[in-house]
Amino acid sequence: MTSLAALTARTPNLPCRLDPDLFFSDNARDRAAAVRACRGCPLLEPCAAVAIETREPWGVWGGTTAADRRGFRDGRAWRFDGAGRLRQKCGSVSAYHAHFAYREQPCGECTAAWEARLEADRRARLEAEHATGGTTRGYGVHRLLGEPACERCREAVKRQSAATRRERAQRGLHGARGASATSRPVRATPGRETAVQSLAIAS
Ligand code: SF4
Ligand SMILES: [Zn+2]
Ligand SMILES: [Zn+2]
Repeated sequence: MTSLAALTARTPNLPCRLDPDLFFSDNARDRAAAVRACRGCPLLEPCAAVAIETREPWGVWGGTTAADRRGFRDGRAWRFDGAGRLRQKCGSVSAYHAHFAYREQPCGECTAAWEARLEADRRARLEAEHATGGTTRGYGVHRLLGEPACERCREAVKRQSAATRRERAQRGLHGARGASATSRPVRATPGRETAVQSLAIAS
C-alpha cells in the first residue's frame, strides 16, 4: 500500500501541501475548511483510501477527519455520499439502518440486504418451532414468509381452535348456569330450583 507521503509527492499544488497548518489544525472550523479543500482534489478517493487503511491518526486526509476514519478501523467498506460524507458502503443491514440516521430512504441494495436478513431470521424461528413439532407461532411465521403453512403447523392451529371452542362452550355453560341462578327468580321450593338447574345443564 502506498503511503500518504508517496501518494501526495507526485502531484503538485495540492491544497494540503500549500497550507499544511489548515489540515493539521485543532480548530474545527479549520478542519471543515480542509475537508472542503479536499473535495476539489484529484487525489480525493485514493488519499482517503490510504488514510483509512493505514489508520492515519492525525490530520485531514482525503476529505476525512481522524474522527471520521476511526469509524472505519474495522475494515468496513466505505464510500462518499452525495454530500461528500464518509459513509459505509451500501448493501448491508447496518447501511440500511444508517440511511434512517441520515434521514433518507434506504436504497434498493440496502433494502434487499435487510429483507434477506429478515427472511433468514424468520427461517431460523420457523426451524425452532418445527423442532418442537408444528406450532401456532410457526403458522404465523409461515404467513409472514408468504408461504402456505406446513401440515404440522396447520394441525397445531386446529388443535388450538378446538381447545378455544371447548373453553368458550364451557364458559358459556357456566355463565348460563350463573344467570339462571341469579336473574330468574325461583320459588323457594327445593323441588322447583332443582328442576331449573337441571334444565340449564342439559342445554
Ligand atoms: S485529498 Fe486532501 S489531503 Fe489528500 S492529497 Fe488532496 S488535498 Fe491533500
Ligand atoms: Zn444503501
Ligand atoms: Zn410449519
